[in-house]
Amino acid sequence: MELIDTHTHLYVEAFDSDREEMVERAKAAGVKHFFIPAIDSTYTERMYALEKRYPNEVHLMAGVHPCHIKDNFKEELNKVEMQLQQRSFCAVGEIGIDLYWDKTYLKEQQEAFTRQIEWAKQYSLPIVIHCREAFDEVFEILEAYRSETLYGIFHCFTGNLDQAKRAIDLSFKLGIGGVVTFKKGRIDQFLHELPLEALVLETDAPYLAPVPYRGKRNESSYLPLILNKVAQCYGRTDLEIASMTTKNARQLFNI
Ligand SMILES: [Zn+2]
Repeated sequence: MELIDTHTHLYVEAFDSDREEMVERAKAAGVKHFFIPAIDSTYTERMYALEKRYPNEVHLMAGVHPCHIKDNFKEELNKVEMQLQQRSFCAVGEIGIDLYWDKTYLKEQQEAFTRQIEWAKQYSLPIVIHCREAFDEVFEILEAYRSETLYGIFHCFTGNLDQAKRAIDLSFKLGIGGVVTFKKGRIDQFLHELPLEALVLETDAPYLAPVPYRGKRNESSYLPLILNKVAQCYGRTDLEIASMTTKNARQLFNI
């Protein structure tokens, strides 16, 4: 079985004490590729070091996370633009809008999101969207920039069925993570109504660990728990869902 973790922050401090072992556990669990979203420039060196250590398994994104859009966001964006000019990336991410923690920087988040979308189109890259309590705001921008060259993933999708259909209609895949295993995660209620072609799997490690690790540190080796829950939702085998979602991820990221 071959799995792909389409969203995992392997480079953060939470893994400093056992990163190598953690990656080995994930590989043993079938995870062959790790797609690594950016947060902000303070992590860039760590991301490059991770890629150097695992050149065949690790694929880096460039971008500024919406929760890290603050007064210095123009500087941060300039650094992303320079990175995109200098080398190749698998996607622009994670980018988007988050109004759950703080609405102070909504205008700046919108500006940063649109600029990064423009770069993704310019470099023919998918975008990986972080959208929390902001579906209307995110859809408004995606509709405005809608085109054949704009595509990607709604990472850690937590919306409702209508929002899922709308995202798919805009040429986006849904990143399904630990929330699907939560008692009140809701998406498990309607997931089976969505085409399997629209799904990719992710952990978002070290956050959002699936049951039975909920509340603890998440890691990519837990991806089979998410796979198993998705398989239950569709009444299919783990192997079928693994091969389908892996194929989807390979197509999207062009590997
Ligand atoms: Zn993330």
